[in-house]
Amino acid sequence: MFSQDYSFQYATVEILTPMVRRVVARNPSPFTFYGTGTFIIGHGDVAIIDPGPEIAEHIETLLHALRNETVTHLLVTHTHLDHSPACRTVKAATGATTFGYGPHGSGRYQRGETVEEGADWEFIPDVAIRHGDIIDGKGWTFECVFTPGHTSNHICFHLCEEGALFTGDHVMGWSSTIVSPPDGDMGLYLNSLHGLRYRDDASYWPTHGPQVTDTRRLINGLIGHRLRRREQVLCAVRDGTRRIQDLVPKIYIELPTAMHPAAARSVYSTLIWLAQEERIEVIGGSGIDAEFVPINQGGG
Ligand SMILES: [Zn+2]
Repeated sequence: MFSQDYSFQYATVEILTPMVRRVVARNPSPFTFYGTGTFIIGHGDVAIIDPGPEIAEHIETLLHALRNETVTHLLVTHTHLDHSPACRTVKAATGATTFGYGPHGSGRYQRGETVEEGADWEFIPDVAIRHGDIIDGKGWTFECVFTPGHTSNHICFHLCEEGALFTGDHVMGWSSTIVSPPDGDMGLYLNSLHGLRYRDDASYWPTHGPQVTDTRRLINGLIGHRLRRREQVLCAVRDGTRRIQDLVPKIYIELPTAMHPAAARSVYSTLIWLAQEERIEVIGGSGIDAEFVPINQGGG
């Protein structure tokens, strides 16, 4: 299902399609793969999708590449630190208008609990967009596709002229996505995966990793993966494993221990999902330290 076949060069503008160019930022990590892919759409008057992290080399590459063009739109898929912060510098340099669902969800991140990219609390879009909104520029048209789950404000952009969906971190070709509570929500994430299943996007351009052309296969694979994980977690809870710290090594048998804190966030979001479905309940503790037991269904 996943492919890590990806070729690119940092600080370089790649021409991907007649309308799409990309610059990859030098912020590789276990969550960002080789780094953030910032897309440039159109020619002359262009849009930028996810300007990326505040890395001088990255921003300079973008601005230099576009020195003879006009940046009219800055589109933001969501407010993680590897996606939106460069908006500030690029907007100051170009005067472009920023578009996004809204500021980072008023989630209750607790100190030391966030293990993924971290949130950009400062981003406030000039224009708040909603599902189905159309954003059009010179020679290009985007339809906004709301996809909450990875974050509560995650939104994808469908480039109508090429039938391609810019999927941010909602679906990626190289790996599954971290869904970290409280802003990340696994139930919503699954709904948003199902939402893409009923579209006919010709391809996906995720922020991290390669283009995806077999979109249907990836979506079905991702849904199956989450449902299998949910059953694994439920079975383990039914077998008497009640805490996240004990569930992680049981479920992620082959994962390096350095990645266990991230896996714990995914298990946590899966447990919340199971609790929302009234298949398990909390009997003690709270947050990542809560203790879960199954709810006995159907008198069995
Ligand atoms: Zn993200």
